[in-house]
Amino acid sequence: MDQNNVTGNRGEIHDGLFNSHTGFLIDLACDAGRYAVVRHYEHLDPARITDAPLSCPSCKAANSTDPAAPPHRGRAALEHAKAVLARADQRGYPPPLDDEGLRLAFEALGVDHPPASTLYPLIREHLTDMLTDRALSVPNGVPSVLVEYTRYTGGTLQAPVGVGDRLMHDGIASGNWSRVRVDAIEDTPDGVVVTVTEKDWPHPRKWTGPDITRWFLKLDRAPINS
Ligand SMILES: [Zn+2]
Repeated sequence: MDQNNVTGNRGEIHDGLFNSHTGFLIDLACDAGRYAVVRHYEHLDPARITDAPLSCPSCKAANSTDPAAPPHRGRAALEHAKAVLARADQRGYPPPLDDEGLRLAFEALGVDHPPASTLYPLIREHLTDMLTDRALSVPNGVPSVLVEYTRYTGGTLQAPVGVGDRLMHDGIASGNWSRVRVDAIEDTPDGVVVTVTEKDWPHPRKWTGPDITRWFLKLDRAPINS
C-alpha cells in the first residue's frame, strides 16, 4: 500500500491510500471515501497528488497520536488483514487458492459486517501485499530461478522459486494449466534443475531453470505454519 496526499474535490488535502503496483487510489484515511477525490467513472487526475500538508481535519486527526482520534482506515485495515491471514493459514492451504478459507476467516472475525466490511478494499489490498511479500521470499542459498507472479489486485512481477511453491503451467499454447509443487531446486554442472510433482501423478519431473521461467507461473508459497 502506498500513501500520497491528494487534493479533494473541494480543495481539501486528504491522506490517500493507493495500490502499490497499479497506482489505483483505493480509499482515504478518513471516512470521506475515494469519491471525495475521484469522480465516478473517472480515473484519478495525477495532478491531484500533492506535497501539500493535510488539511482535512479527519485525516489530520487519524495521523495524530491522540488516542481519542478516529482510527486511520489504512492501519485499521492492516490489523484486520493480519488477523484474516493468520486465521486462513490455520487451514493449511495457501490462501490464494483457498477462497473458502479467506471467506471463513472474514466471517469468523466479523470482518464481513460493518463497520469492518467498509474497509474491505483496503483489507484486500493489505492481504495482497502480504501474499506478495510471501511469494517473493525464499530461503537464502536457493539457486535463483524467477517466474511470473500476478498480484490479486493487479501488478505482475518476477518472483523467485522456492521449495514448497505451487506453480502453474502456462497453458496459453497447450491448454494444459496443470499445477505442480516444487520439491527441489539444485545447482548442477548443467545449470539449475527444478524438480516438481504434479497432482495425481506420482512421478517427479525435472525441468531446467530457464524452462521453469518460460513455462510456469507462480501461484503461492506453502502456508507459513505447514
Ligand atoms: Zn480526509
